[in-house]
This record gives sequence, structure tokens and C-alpha cells, in this order.
Amino acid sequence: MGQLSGPTDPTVDAHWEHNHPRQGFFTDTSICIGCKACEVACKEWNHNPRDGNLELLGSSYDNTGALGASTWRHVAFVEQGQERIAEARESGRALVNLGMPRIGPPSEPDPLDLSEVDTTPPDTPDFRWLMSSDVCKHCTHAGCLDVCPTGALFRTEFGTVVVQDDVCNGCGTCVAGCPFGVIERRSDGTAAVAAQREEQHAEHPAVPNVGVAQKCTLCYDRLLTDETPACAKACPTTSIKFGDHEDMVQTARERVAELHAKGLTEARLYGANELDGVGGTGSVFLLLDEPEVYGLPPDPRVPTADLPRMYRRAGVAVAGMLAAAAVAFLGGRA
Ligand code: SF4
Ligand code: SF4
Ligand code: SF4
Repeated sequence: MGQLSGPTDPTVDAHWEHNHPRQGFFTDTSICIGCKACEVACKEWNHNPRDGNLELLGSSYDNTGALGASTWRHVAFVEQGQERIAEARESGRALVNLGMPRIGPPSEPDPLDLSEVDTTPPDTPDFRWLMSSDVCKHCTHAGCLDVCPTGALFRTEFGTVVVQDDVCNGCGTCVAGCPFGVIERRSDGTAAVAAQREEQHAEHPAVPNVGVAQKCTLCYDRLLTDETPACAKACPTTSIKFGDHEDMVQTARERVAELHAKGLTEARLYGANELDGVGGTGSVFLLLDEPEVYGLPPDPRVPTADLPRMYRRAGVAVAGMLAAAAVAFLGGRA
């Protein structure tokens, strides 16, 4: 049985003998231009159907809406005014390393210590778009994988989490187990778009894997042949970076420090803390506002983390009931 919470190496925890370095993403939303090349590349590589038939959501220029069974990368567009930008800068400033005095001999200067740097913000714009390419987090402690009763979800040798379409029985337990709302059963979709009204009722190719839980595989098939995931390869701005998880986290930390040093104190990390409720994530993000603004949970927690405590309490309750039954039995005989 693997560890249910806290820092761990998920590949070792899954008992893989040959130990690949854990792979992951660093998505730097500060340089995303919202071109959606990543969304398209993912659809194309994985032969995923469309979610609908060219419907416009009417709430944003983003008409995909959310991650789903057929959308494994989703680029959110969030429109913000000056007041919200100032608030984001203020909340992010609290996350700067304040360089607290240390006890002990003087050490090398910490490149991430910004206590001596002037972080006065540049002019606050009247308006901005936040663009962020979301994806499965490939959690260290993955709720979807922990609760799957058939073993359809498994941990790969790269530390990622993948669904086996032919093993999944469509029970949907994983959907409730994911604290990020990522995994979904494919209920419908359109394999070919009908641009003309008369084509909408025409017969279309069958949608694959209907009823099966679906999500990003971190391009497991490409990793096996040492190729970069399709979304990262297609990203023209390098907003999506792919590599060893450790390097991704370090790059992300340095980028936050760089932005803070320029006064862009709204920059913050998401998923880089191995002490959080999912043990950190394989997909790490740099955000420019609170996670909720992007539709991300601020404090995700894997449901199985509470299992040991629940079992302990259940054990105490059972022991109490047995003791009470024994007392009642012995008392009745006296
Ligand atoms: S984000 Fe959800 S679907 Fe992805 S690994 Fe974590 S629990 Fe599973
Ligand atoms: S890693 Fe592959 S499956 Fe996952 S979002 Fe990128 S292209 Fe899609
Ligand atoms: S391809 Fe890169 S720049 Fe374009 S939307 Fe995706 S993450 Fe942003």
C-alpha cells in the first residue's frame, strides 16, 4: 500500500523498479498569449472529439469553457480591471521571501531572497487578460487513482497518472475522487463538426470511449519514445515547459523571484508545495492572481488522506461496542 499523504516519490511508492526521474510541466501563465495551440495539439494527437458543435458560450472569448473528458488542455481567459490587478499585487506581495534573520555563520546570498530588492510595482494597467492553460495535475497523491476500484488508473514509471480505457468500467468513482474536477466520463461529443445547419442532423463518425473516464495522459505514448508532450511542443511562447519535475519546480521558483524583483508581485506558484493536501503536483503553475480566479481550488486535499484517521476512529468505536457488549453479556449472567 502506498503512502496516502505527505512528501514522497510517487514512482517508488508505486513500486516501479527502474526509477525514471519524475516528469512534469511548469506552465508559466505570465507568458501565455491565449493562442490555444496547446488545446488543439492535444485534441489532434489524442484524437479527442469536439465537445460541441461550434457553440459560443457568450461569457468570454474562451468558448471551450472547462477541462473535460474530451478537452484535456483548457486555456482560460480571465478579464480584469485595475482594482483587481492592484489587489492581486497586494496579495502576492505577502508571499515574497522577507529574508528573516538567521542564526549561525553567514551563508551564500539566497538568489530568491528579495529583501534587498526594490519591488515597487510598475504602472498598474487599466485592464488585462489572464490566460492560463490548465491540465491534469498528475498529483503526488492522486485521488482518482486511490479510489479507482478496477485498477484502470495507474501510476507510470514517469510518476504520471494514466487511465487504461479498456479496463475502466465507467463507474465514475474517480470523478468524485479528484479534488481538481479534472477527470470526467465521456458522455457525448462530436467527432466531426457540422458547420452547416443541414449537416447537424447528418450521421457522424462514432465518438470513441463513450462512458469511459478520460483525462490527460501527459502523453504517455510520447514519453515512451522520448518525445515532448504535444501541448508543450506546440506552445509558441514556451509558456508550457516540460521536463524533470525537480527542474520544473526550480525554474518556477526562479521565475516567481524574477517577476517579484520587477515589481510584479502578483506572481505566485501553484502545486509546488509538497506539504500541501495532495503532496504537490506534477503540473506546477505560475499564476498572476489567487487560484480561485482561474477556477482552481486554493487548498486541494486528496480524499484518502483522512483514511488512517477515519480507520483509527472506527477501530476505537468497534472496540467500545465490543467492550459494551461484553459487559452486558457478563452482567446478564451474574
Ligand atoms: S488532478 Fe485529478 S485526475 Fe489528475 S491526477 Fe490529480 S486527482 Fe487524478
Ligand atoms: S500532455 Fe498530452 S494528453 Fe496531456 S494535455 Fe498535453 S497533449 Fe494533451
Ligand atoms: S500554446 Fe502556449 S501560449 Fe498558446 S494558449 Fe497554450 S500555453 Fe498559451
